[in-house]
Amino acid sequence: MTYPNTQLFIDGQWQDAADGRTLAVFNPASGREIGRVAHAGAADLDRALAAAQKGFETWRDLPAIERNKVMRRAAALMRERAGDIAAVLTQEQGKPLAEAKGEANAAADIIEWFADEGLRVYGRIVPSRGNLAARQMVLKDPVGPVAAFTPWNFPINQVVRKLAAALASGCSMIVKAPEETPAAPAALIRAFADAGLPAGVLGLVYGNPAEISSYLIPHPVIRKVTFTGSTPVGKQLAAMAGQHMKRVTMELGGHAPVIVCEDADIALAVKAAGAAKFRNAGQVCISPTRFLVHESVKRDFAAALAKHAAGLKIGDGLAEGTQMGPLANPRRLTAMAEFTRDAVERGATVMHGGERIGDAGNFWQPTILADVPLEAKVFNDEPFGPMAAIRGFNTLAEAIAEANRLAFGLAGYAFTKSLKNADLLARRVEVGMLWMNMPALPTAEMPFGGIKDSGYGSEGGPEAMEAYLNTRAVTVMNV
Ligand code: NAD
Repeated sequence: MTYPNTQLFIDGQWQDAADGRTLAVFNPASGREIGRVAHAGAADLDRALAAAQKGFETWRDLPAIERNKVMRRAAALMRERAGDIAAVLTQEQGKPLAEAKGEANAAADIIEWFADEGLRVYGRIVPSRGNLAARQMVLKDPVGPVAAFTPWNFPINQVVRKLAAALASGCSMIVKAPEETPAAPAALIRAFADAGLPAGVLGLVYGNPAEISSYLIPHPVIRKVTFTGSTPVGKQLAAMAGQHMKRVTMELGGHAPVIVCEDADIALAVKAAGAAKFRNAGQVCISPTRFLVHESVKRDFAAALAKHAAGLKIGDGLAEGTQMGPLANPRRLTAMAEFTRDAVERGATVMHGGERIGDAGNFWQPTILADVPLEAKVFNDEPFGPMAAIRGFNTLAEAIAEANRLAFGLAGYAFTKSLKNADLLARRVEVGMLWMNMPALPTAEMPFGGIKDSGYGSEGGPEAMEAYLNTRAVTVMNV
């Protein structure tokens, strides 16, 4: 299976870094180096910034319908190439091939939805309260060149949510994509280049994340910053953006509560939460993590979830039938070992897993921990791996209080057949996205984003477009 080296994409050209530097890319299923990615320096970033300014001026002035056509061609190319792109994505990130192909196809859906939303960026005419000859107009304009920073867990999806909304709004963008998984995002950018996107509208760079963000964010060309990643890094970048008065969208970490009520359909809860839990080996910001289960059904639920975990086929994502691949990098293995050790030391029971598999690649057993004390690390820090921590509750008020205890507020899940419970959960659980009686189903047309320490701004629905638009008031007196 071939794997490409990845270059920078600047001003419509694929190119090496000016000083020729590269970084190694590893396959998480084997731990072996599979390719290299170009490492940008200041000279490359300067060229990317100049190109983004020029690209913005070209793209902004194209009729929305022309932008729509380019975006729709890029979406079609993503669908056409989904099989090849998936093979590259699985080799660098580890997820099963079917999930990787799903990610490439979902990118096409997202691009199409935003391409069409770009046709509906309307201003308004507001009646004048005084002289009727005064025409009061509200105009929506693209904010300008955007700097986007994206992580390795969904190498395509994290980029496409940003760039589809930005391009549909008329912005240009420099993407700092993940060095650990560079080729899949490059394939996404290639689809746009091949679809006829004018030079400079999209740039793609890799390198030292902190050096690149501290160069791009303060730069006068950049008008907006969007980041997906951990809360501590998000807070640093938001502070830097604030110093330079740049607009910001932050999609940060989560610690999703799963509330399983006394009246829940337990089989459904296990199936839905189990599927959501082990997708992408749990390296998902909306992954269910804190399982709060009514005492009367806790034992049955924990046993059924452990059985579900035990039945999963773990292996190289390229192998037929694999349901869960390796973790994306060795840092996650270390984290899983530490979460497990800490929970067990504090009295939790390991219902399944809790150990590394083999010594080649980053394989970790799907892990179910029961009766986890609140003080355990796994009930406080985002596990970001294939780990479910279960504890009981007696009243729904108690479960909601626990769901809201942490500073995170990204996703939540609940299982109940009671309309009264569902209504209370919808109103009181402090998360940006709540799914009840189902696994997570993020779509392009629904808002996607968190509250509290999980960030601000949205990466779905019309709200995602607002993030890339300035609202201006222009009044003309008809003299
Ligand atoms: P990390 O905090 O070092 O990095 C997270 C991401 O931020 C990476 O893509 C990294 O390249 C980028 N980054 C780090 N410092 C940066 C900087 N100064 N400027 C710009 N970008 C920067 O952690 P990690 O080990 O890569 O991932 C582990 C944690 O990150 C997880 O526990 C999880 O909380 C979080 N994470 C969240 C998401 C998400 O979808 N929200 C995705 C990946 C990682």
